[in-house]
Amino acid sequence: MDKKIVLLGPPGSGKGTQTERLCAELKLTKISTGDLLREAVRNNTPLGVKAKGYMDAGRLVPNELVVDLVKEKIKCVEGGVILDGFPRSLEQAELLDRFAKVDLAVDIEVNEDNLVRRLTLRRTCRSCNAVYHLEFNPPKVESICDKCGGELFQRSDDTERTVRERLKVYKEQTLPLTKYYSKKGILRKVDGEGDIGTVYQRVLKAIKG
Ligand SMILES: [Zn+2]
Repeated sequence: MDKKIVLLGPPGSGKGTQTERLCAELKLTKISTGDLLREAVRNNTPLGVKAKGYMDAGRLVPNELVVDLVKEKIKCVEGGVILDGFPRSLEQAELLDRFAKVDLAVDIEVNEDNLVRRLTLRRTCRSCNAVYHLEFNPPKVESICDKCGGELFQRSDDTERTVRERLKVYKEQTLPLTKYYSKKGILRKVDGEGDIGTVYQRVLKAIKG
């Protein structure tokens, strides 16, 4: 498969898991800006050095730099790609269009209350940072990490108030993007309710159909 796919989905939609599986089964390359930034910094590339300057100063890495990283990566990838976490804004989407043609934008939709439920049930180990989910991946003993015996706690990111705020920000950022891709006629909405396997089949259908 040699399509360039943008995968959109709110925190808690299982987008990361779906991306991994699509990459493995359809031989697509995942392009995640978070990974690209870390990799560039680690390898001390010119862009990485620049990015590190911003990060060390506690500042956001500017749009152009992030876009340049994606551009550099897309150029050397053969075959299809899945863009994960990019574009995040209309501006980024327009910049992306200048050097790569997006074939498809897949938007995984999940009801907000369900997302809140999924996200607030996450627990993290204080000692080894392992992540559990009280419904989908519970620890064998309540509040105790299976791997190291450490204490599990709820990160402040995972409390209901923070989760609702994150979802609000996500919605505000993404709405212009879905409109943009919808206007181009390449937006596919996918029902993200249900287990990971069911949602995967829907995503697959959207991509292949
Ligand atoms: Zn642990």
